Amino acid sequence: MNFDKLINAIDKYIEKADENLKDQLEQDGFIEPEETVEYINYLEEATAAILFSETDFFMRRFRASNSVNNFLENELEKVIAEDVTDKAISNLYISEYGKSCRNLANKYTQKIDTDISVCNLTLKTQKHNVKWAKQLGSMMKETNYKAIRGILKQGAKKGLSIQEISKLIQDSGIRNEFWRAKRVALTETLRMHNIASYESCLQSPSVREKTWNHSGAGADSRDNHVGLSGKKVEVDKPFTLYGKDGGVYSPMFPMDPSLPASESINCHCFLGKVIDYDLAALPPEEKQYMQWVEKGEYDKINDDLDIRKSYLKITMKEPYITKDLQDIIKNTDGELVGLENRLKTRKSVMDKIDRNVQKAFNRGGYTTRKVEFNKLNDIIRYTTVSDEKNFVQNFNKTRALLEEKGYNINRITNTWRDGQSYKGINCTLKNTDTVFELQFHTPKSYKVKQQTHSDYEILREKQGTREELKKIREKMVEKTNKIPNPKGVENIK
Ligand SMILES: [Zn+2]
Repeated sequence: MNFDKLINAIDKYIEKADENLKDQLEQDGFIEPEETVEYINYLEEATAAILFSETDFFMRRFRASNSVNNFLENELEKVIAEDVTDKAISNLYISEYGKSCRNLANKYTQKIDTDISVCNLTLKTQKHNVKWAKQLGSMMKETNYKAIRGILKQGAKKGLSIQEISKLIQDSGIRNEFWRAKRVALTETLRMHNIASYESCLQSPSVREKTWNHSGAGADSRDNHVGLSGKKVEVDKPFTLYGKDGGVYSPMFPMDPSLPASESINCHCFLGKVIDYDLAALPPEEKQYMQWVEKGEYDKINDDLDIRKSYLKITMKEPYITKDLQDIIKNTDGELVGLENRLKTRKSVMDKIDRNVQKAFNRGGYTTRKVEFNKLNDIIRYTTVSDEKNFVQNFNKTRALLEEKGYNINRITNTWRDGQSYKGINCTLKNTDTVFELQFHTPKSYKVKQQTHSDYEILREKQGTREELKKIREKMVEKTNKIPNPKGVENIK
């Protein structure tokens, strides 16, 4: 069969299947069926790309071997250990679960109550998602190598050559990668919908009970799921599901990752919500308060109020500190530059906190917005510039004048060495209870700092592959290496 023809046939099949799937999702009660089908296709492609590169990786190693038996006995386990597909799959799904569940939870919530929006998933849900995405990666790698090991053993028994076995693996592969990717993408997307619907139950003050819905339209018609259909349970209590395998399960919602694959693959059941209309009629502020205080795991409203108050306090101190800094720098050979940027806006502070909270979750850690706010030491920040010749002398003079006025230097970060991506001295200063930052630059290092600022952000947020980030860093170092180092700067500590 000609390859283009084959691709065409696959496309036709998927097209047709998409149309059916859209109707089916609509009947099953899923939101935005058309976008969901598009999303499944996107996820399928991203997943298939990883699976193809896994096959590629394996094939290269297998073909480089000198015999099938030697490969099976001595090399296969090493190859499996070096294969990073599990991590690639986990990373993809950690990020997709994060974005998608939040987005869908907001839509499911707005559908029942426009006064309530979901901007963050509860901590419990985020943690469960990360845990599940990691498990999914390992499971997929395991399944793949189980199949490969099977083909290898069979081939070895029949005395087939490396070429012949490669062909067997690849022939099974062309159908397999797409088929596996499709199945995973579909299952995981429907799972995301269910997680989002559950999250919407947790965060909607007017939802006190949930239901297990089996519409009968989907491909799945497991008797035990049909039996549960319409069952009402309090939001924070599990359903009881008698599994086909004899086990008794306690899922919080259909396709709960705690269920075995046999109870969730190709399950089109969906979590419904029971709305208490008395509660839905409460004033919006009352409901928003309930959303976080009563149902959320931490008190976001109070957290945010505290952060706002602290930020306000800092902005009130800023003019006094600025005046002191101006007076001090006037008495040195330095100059204050970029003074218009001395105060980080509240929006950029909030964005940074959210990013840090998200990063901690992605690593499986725990933090709160208040903790992250208290870690920030550059909400107020200044930059002073002096030429190379007077740099060290100026630094020492500035430091003495600061101390005279009652400012303590809490920390000095001196990165003024060749090979660094940033050259400058950053000091964290404290005046009674206000912390701020003061940077010391030469005109040249200040110019490079501004030129490389966007690269610096890309590095900080790790927006790229390891290879790309390495290149960006090298490019930055190339620029900073050209900045002359002020004499004696290495003594500043
Ligand atoms: Zn089901």
